[in-house]
Amino acid sequence: MRGPDASDEAPLATSAAPRSHALMSDGLGYRGITASTELVVLLGDPVGHSLSPVIHNAAFAEQALDLVYLAHAVASGALPHAIDGLWALGARGANVTIPHKRAVLGLASEATETARTLGAANTLRRGDDGWVADNTDVEGFLDPLRIHRQRVSGHPVAVLGAGGAARAVVYAVLRDLSPAHVTVLARRPDQADQLAVDLGAHGDVRVAAMDDREAVRSAALIVNATPVGMDGNATPLAGLSMLHDRHVVYDLIYRPAQTPLLKAAESRGAETINGLPMLLGQAAASYRQWTGLAFPLATARRAALHALGRHG
Ligand code: NAP
Repeated sequence: MRGPDASDEAPLATSAAPRSHALMSDGLGYRGITASTELVVLLGDPVGHSLSPVIHNAAFAEQALDLVYLAHAVASGALPHAIDGLWALGARGANVTIPHKRAVLGLASEATETARTLGAANTLRRGDDGWVADNTDVEGFLDPLRIHRQRVSGHPVAVLGAGGAARAVVYAVLRDLSPAHVTVLARRPDQADQLAVDLGAHGDVRVAAMDDREAVRSAALIVNATPVGMDGNATPLAGLSMLHDRHVVYDLIYRPAQTPLLKAAESRGAETINGLPMLLGQAAASYRQWTGLAFPLATARRAALHALGRHG
């Protein structure tokens, strides 16, 4: 399995350059929160399972930034208050997760083209007049695929599932990987049809049933964008015998690290990627927007793996 490589990420020159930690240089060795510490927040419901605080706080500490990342469960009705409150508090930025990714677009003063196209955002950064919404899942998803661009270009892609992550995946593949076409395999045809209508302007999007073996067999890249496999037992495919050594199989799940789908793909010689590089890649893209700095990937990955090891 491969992860993103941030070694070529150049620091960005932005006005949001970080301040060094006030207490870093006082000789006391205390690296704590002070009156000058700035806030970055995850808003979702629930958020208790999230690795984002671990990842970002490890990165802030590595780069000695006077920032802290907290996670807050926010009920849907309270989202506008939370967003306004963060602005008033001078928060540096935010991540937004289920169930608020769509609603937050209506509360931002601006949105990137990616967020507008997907109708969903996962990142807020401070703009001149309000929050700027972006969707860094697209960049995160693409990170570990860049080395496979040639294998995918001109060939079919199969995406399992038609929810929020599948939308980001289909858009990312159409925008950056030049596939022959993308087939969305879903258990609810109406959901997949809507995805195809919404993203059809960006390329050839087809819809098939979950058990369409030919759509899977003929694909160069297979992406699991369903939660099936999180239990360590189930697979989203009707069978695994159509997997072969020319496949790249990408499961967005990172807990467990190797789902039954990835295990079967690996045993048949396929290239496999789990969801951790995407998680780190979207975090890296958000981090750069908040800090103007390259993301300390190795530190963040170590922190994430440590937390995964602790919580299973
Ligand atoms: P979502 O919006 O709820 O969509 C899930 C999709 O999977 C829906 O199309 C759903 O169909 C389908 N599905 C669920 N159970 C199924 C089953 N038993 N058989 C067939 N299809 C099934 O969720 P999401 O936000 O897209 O997330 C999907 C997965 O990606 C999750 O495992 C999530 O953790 C992962 N993810 C990972 C990252 C990362 O950074 N690695 C980022 C985002 C998401 P119905 O609507 O009919 O239930």
